[in-house]
Amino acid sequence: MLKNNLGYPRVGAHRELKKASEQYWAGKTGKQELFAAARDIRRQNWQVQQEAGIDLIPCNDFSYYDQVLDTSLMLGVIPQRYTPVLSKNPDNNEIDLYFAMARGYQKDGLDITAMEMTKWFDTNYHYIVPEFTANQQFKIFSEKVFEEFTLGLNTLGKAPKTVLIGPVTYLLLGKEKEQGFEKIDLIKNLVPVYIDILKKLKSYGAEWVQLDEPFLALDLNQKAKDAYTYAYKEIRKACAGLNLMVATYFESLHENTPLALSLPVNALHIDLVRAPQQLDKVLSLVPDNLILSLGVVDGRNIWKNDYIRSLSLIKNAVAAVGTDRVMIAPSCSLLHTPFDLDLETAINPEIKNWMAFAKQKLNEVNELSLIIDGNNDLLQANLKAISSRNVSKLIHRQEVKQRVAAITNADADRVSPFAERQKIQQQAFKLPLFPTTTIGSFPQTDDIRQLRAKLKKGELTQEQYDTEIAHATIDAIRWQEEVGLDVLVHGEFERNDMVEYFGELLDGFLFTKNGWVQSYGSRCVKPPVIYGDVSRPADMTVKWTSFAQANTDKLMKGMLTGPVTILQWSFVRDDQPRSVTTNQIALAIRDEVVALEQAGIKVIQIDEPAIREGLPLRKADWATYLDWAVKAFRISAAGVQDETQIHTHMCYSEFNDIIKHIADMDADVITIETSRSQMELLEAFADFKYPAEIGPGVYDIHSPRVPTTEEMVSLLEKAADLLPAGNIWVNPDCGLKTRKWPETKIALQNMVAAAKVAREIF
Ligand code: GLN
Ligand code: ZN
Repeated sequence: MLKNNLGYPRVGAHRELKKASEQYWAGKTGKQELFAAARDIRRQNWQVQQEAGIDLIPCNDFSYYDQVLDTSLMLGVIPQRYTPVLSKNPDNNEIDLYFAMARGYQKDGLDITAMEMTKWFDTNYHYIVPEFTANQQFKIFSEKVFEEFTLGLNTLGKAPKTVLIGPVTYLLLGKEKEQGFEKIDLIKNLVPVYIDILKKLKSYGAEWVQLDEPFLALDLNQKAKDAYTYAYKEIRKACAGLNLMVATYFESLHENTPLALSLPVNALHIDLVRAPQQLDKVLSLVPDNLILSLGVVDGRNIWKNDYIRSLSLIKNAVAAVGTDRVMIAPSCSLLHTPFDLDLETAINPEIKNWMAFAKQKLNEVNELSLIIDGNNDLLQANLKAISSRNVSKLIHRQEVKQRVAAITNADADRVSPFAERQKIQQQAFKLPLFPTTTIGSFPQTDDIRQLRAKLKKGELTQEQYDTEIAHATIDAIRWQEEVGLDVLVHGEFERNDMVEYFGELLDGFLFTKNGWVQSYGSRCVKPPVIYGDVSRPADMTVKWTSFAQANTDKLMKGMLTGPVTILQWSFVRDDQPRSVTTNQIALAIRDEVVALEQAGIKVIQIDEPAIREGLPLRKADWATYLDWAVKAFRISAAGVQDETQIHTHMCYSEFNDIIKHIADMDADVITIETSRSQMELLEAFADFKYPAEIGPGVYDIHSPRVPTTEEMVSLLEKAADLLPAGNIWVNPDCGLKTRKWPETKIALQNMVAAAKVAREIF
C-alpha cells in the first residue's frame, strides 16, 4: 500500500525560515543566505519523509510566505500597483516583488500597501487573497514550482509529487477587484496555463501531481460545480500519462461526492479524520481504477493516532477496491501541526506518549502500513498508549465530568431579563449617557515584557515582579482617571496572552517549548494543549482586579477570556466533543466571574473574539455549533446577580448572519470592532433591534494614527442614527496592547472629548 503525504511544515524545526526571512527583510543578509536557508529546510524535510518510508513525497509545499501567494506568482496574478517594485530598483527581483505583495513596500520612494490576508478555511493559517480583474490574464510567471521539482528530484533521487492549488479552489479563494464579472468565469482563461505547467512538469520527469481542491468539500453553487467538470476534463485531455491526484480536506464531500468521483483523475484524497462517515458513500460510488488516498492521521491536531480506528477504515476500503487502489495518508497537509515532538523535553512523559507532531505522524502512516502487512507489535504498542489515555487520572476527573453532566438550562440564565437588569444597573452605576471605557489591555511596552522574561529566567523574584506590575497598574489607573474615562480597566500588564494566561492557571492544559505552527508569513503561534478535564484550582484574576478596584473610586471592569475563544485558540482533546470541553472551560470561567463579583467587582467583561471564526465550514452545521457555543458563554456569565454588568467583546467579526445568536448571548454590553467599516457592522444590530447595550469601536487600534475628536463624534452620530442613544458606549475597537503610550494618550483624550460632545447633542 502506498504511503502519501500532502504537505509538511516549512518554517523549520527551529523556525529557521522565520529567522532567515526576517534578517533578509531587515537588510542584514542577502538573497543567497535566504535561498540557502530555504534549500536546507526543504532538503531536511524530504529526508525526514524518505526515512519515514513515505512513497509520495510532496514538493512545492514549501513556501517563503504563503502557498496561495506562490500560486498567484506562478500564474502571473500580480496587481499593477507592484510593477514599480521591479522597475524602480535594479537590485530587486522576483523574491522582492513577492515579499512586497505579502508585506507592502515602503522604500525607494514608493509606498505600496500589502495584499489582503484572510484565514485558510477553518484553520488559524492566513493566506494572501488573490486579486482578480475583469479581464484577468494568466501566464507562467514564477518558475519556483519547476525549480522545486528539480531540487526534490536531485535530493531524493526520484520524482517528488508536486503540490499545486487546484484551479477552481484558486479562483474561489480570490477576490473580484472590479465589478461586472464573476471570478469563477475566469476558469476558461486559467485552465490553459495549468495545462502548460503540468506539461512542463511532465517534461521535467514528474509522475504525480497533487491538485488541492478543498472547496470540493464545501457548499458549492452550480457554476463552481460546472467549473470542476470543465477544468479537469480539459486537463486530463491535455496531460495524458501524468498521474493526477485531487486532494480534499477539512470536511466531507457530502452532496459533491458524485462530482468528485466523476473527475477524470487517477486519485482522490479524502479526509477521514474530520469526516470518517463519508467513506461508505465514496466506496459505493467509486469508479473503476480510481485510487483513494485515505486521510486517517489527523493533520490538524497533536494526538497520537488510534490505529484500531484507522485500520478499520483502511480495511473497509481495501475490501472494496483492493490494496493497489488504497493509499494511507494524513488527513491534510501537516502544515497545521508542530514539527517534532522529540524536541519537547519538559512534557510529562505519560502525556507525551499520547501525542504526535508532524514527524511522528509520518511514522504513524508508515506503521499503519506495516501493521496491515502483519506487524502486531506496533499495533499492541499503540493499543497500550491509547487505552492508557482512556483511563488516565491525569485526564479524567469525575467531579468535572459530573458537573458538566449536571448543567441545566437554568445555569445558562441570568436572574432577570435584560430590560430589568438594565434598570437596576443604571440606578446602581449612574453612568452618563455615552459612557466611556476601553477593551482591557494597555500598551505592553518592552519594559513590561522584559519583566516577564526576567521572572522566567529567575532574574526577578515573584515579589519584585508583582511590585513592578502593581506600579504599572496604578499608573494606568491614575492616567485613566485624569483622562476622564468612566469604566476603568487594570491594563492586563500581568498577562502574556489572553489565552495562555488562563491556560497556565487552569488544570488540564499544557504548554510546549517548541510547538510552533505557522500563522502567516514568518509569524508562528504556539497554541496551548488541552489534554484533560478542565478545572480551576484557584482564583485567576481576583488578586489584580481587586487590587485595581481598591485603587480607584471609579468602576473597575474585570477582564476574562471566554470559553469558546480559549477552545478555539488551543489544540483540543479529540476524545470528547468540543462542546463538552467548552462547557468544562465555561464552568471554570463562571466560578471566576462569581469570585470577582464576591470581591466587589461590578462590571465583568468576558472576551469572545473567536466565536465567529469557530463557525463550521458547512452552513448546515452552523446552528448546532452556535447553540452550544452561545450556551457555553451564557453558562460562564450567568452565575451573577442582576446588578453585576456582564460585557463581552468581539473583534474582526461580521454579524449579519449570526446576529440572532449574538443577541442570545444575553450580555448586558457588547463592544465590537466597527471603526474601519464606518459603523457598517452596526446595521445588523439595528435591523435586528438588538436589545442590549453596544460599544461600537470608534478608534482603529491597528494603526498608530490618532483619530480626531470630530471623526469620532461623527461615528457616534452614525451609531445614534442606528441605535437608541441610551444604549451606546464609547470605546476603541479592541485592546491597546500593541500601541505605544504617546499615541494612546492623545487618542483616548480625543475619545472622551467626543463622548462629551455627543452628550451635548443628545
Ligand atoms: N481584553 C483583550 C485586550 O484588550 C481583548 C483582546 C482581543 O479581543 N483580541 O487585549
Ligand atoms: Zn478585540
